[in-house]
Amino acid sequence: MKRAAAVLAALLGLAAVIVVVALLSLWASGALTVRATPALSRPVAEWTPVRDLDGATGAQCDTTIAADSALAQLGEHHVGLFVRPQSAVDAAVPAGSAAYAEPTPDGFGRIVLSNDHTVLPCRYVWSTVAHEWTHVLQYRACGSCDLYADGRGPAAEIVADCGSALTGWPDYYPYLNERQAAGGRDGCSRSELDRARELRRWAR
Ligand SMILES: [Zn+2]
Repeated sequence: MKRAAAVLAALLGLAAVIVVVALLSLWASGALTVRATPALSRPVAEWTPVRDLDGATGAQCDTTIAADSALAQLGEHHVGLFVRPQSAVDAAVPAGSAAYAEPTPDGFGRIVLSNDHTVLPCRYVWSTVAHEWTHVLQYRACGSCDLYADGRGPAAEIVADCGSALTGWPDYYPYLNERQAAGGRDGCSRSELDRARELRRWAR
């Protein structure tokens, strides 16, 4: 029996060695490595304001300085930026609009903002610039087409709001809010965010 026990012990020892070698080789191959799950990328706050925007509310803010700063952070240096009286904005787009974007012959496009802080509060200059800039990118992408042709206007506006949402700047999402109020989804879909994100390659 002693001899049988010795043989059994030797066999068990051999089995243990085989298991250890197998585990070591698996470890060496990386199969046993537990990798940390990558954090999901967040669809918002891809840019961060350089300062507390609440500090820029009220009539004291300079819309041009705020808008220039927003465009610089967006990586945009060629779009035309015009800050005009509300009457001039009203003459170009439906009354009460705070801003608009339009294509220009040079292809860079133009953003026009109201200088009236009761219509465009300082707090929302940044997100309004991001919205209008997304329209500028849409114009560049389509060769200055009519963004509102063939009933595409509502979708273009939603993507512009999503371009603004990507910034994480104070939320002013009129078209997203309008859709939600009408019983639609809350916020941007993944494909709408993707569309807004891919438009950024048109930044100049
Ligand atoms: Zn718009």
